[in-house]
Amino acid sequence: MLIIRAMTPGNPREPRAPRTGSVAIVGRPNVGKSTLLNALLGERLAITSHHPQTTRDRVLGVRTDRDAQFVFVDTPGVHQARTRLGARMNQEARDAAQGADVIVFVTDLTPKRDAELREADKTILAGLPAGVPVILVLNKVDKLSDKAALLDVLAGHARGFAFEAIVPVSALKKDGLDRILKEVRDRLPRGEKAYDDDALTDRPARFFVREYVREQILRRTREEVPHGVAVVVDRFDETGKLPKIELSVHVDREAHKKIIVGKGGVLLKEIGSGARRHIESLLGKQVFLKIWVRVTPGWYESAGLLRDMGYGGDDG
Ligand code: GDP
Ligand code: MG
Repeated sequence: MLIIRAMTPGNPREPRAPRTGSVAIVGRPNVGKSTLLNALLGERLAITSHHPQTTRDRVLGVRTDRDAQFVFVDTPGVHQARTRLGARMNQEARDAAQGADVIVFVTDLTPKRDAELREADKTILAGLPAGVPVILVLNKVDKLSDKAALLDVLAGHARGFAFEAIVPVSALKKDGLDRILKEVRDRLPRGEKAYDDDALTDRPARFFVREYVREQILRRTREEVPHGVAVVVDRFDETGKLPKIELSVHVDREAHKKIIVGKGGVLLKEIGSGARRHIESLLGKQVFLKIWVRVTPGWYESAGLLRDMGYGGDDG
């Protein structure tokens, strides 16, 4: 008997290779890049806050679906750098874009709901590598009550750059994410998956320990403190039943130390327990956490200190 089998596509005996590749999430500070990464992963991996420049380092998050593996790279917001730390953050974003298969460019609605693409966005877009498809994600549309106005904004943005697609979303409300995944998936090459199906990130636990302490400080303090803060893991001892973690929070000035410690040490206690909860949920077990606050003036301008603090290497 003659058996006729479909050759391509969809022969169940020869499944096609999955779509897989790296996806850089790029944009100005505070547009919601890290919130978007977390929403796409269904996991609170990257830290977020209302402060610009919350993200200092590239954070990689892996999402594996039945037919695709997305390696998302969250980047620090591209901005006018005034310090050595700032310049390094911009470089991180550029490197991630350079190595990406697809770029997700995030922007948000202006307070006046301007239709045209912002100048600052155009500048960043002009610096992206040629030949990499760029998908525009217009975030924070939950702030827009007049949905008809959205059409104007979408049309205006489409005029400003040759985007492959424009997707309005609310990362906060987890609205529109499927559309992003579809637009990205369609543009990823087929090949071998780079990570196990259950992989979430390439960063070691101590990187996230540091980040989650920094997140608590960012969320609980105002303007002047956050940018002067560096968190360093001094000890990460997993040998016992209860992992022991000790960290130093370096601040630029004595006044900042006072703010972070708070009256009677109250704020520092809150920072510690907030971070500990987040760390424990990531590691899936209880930990012992101790935080020291130290005054180290000008740490963000010193190349040596930046390296010692993990802002030079890759391992956090
Ligand atoms: P990033 O600097 O681009 O990584 O921005 P973050 O993810 O840290 O978010 C910056 C701020 O915007 C935070 O206060 C977020 O809660 C807020 N945000 C992010 N996405 C949305 C959204 O879809 N809607 C609204 N209303 N706020 C958002
Ligand atoms: Mg961020």
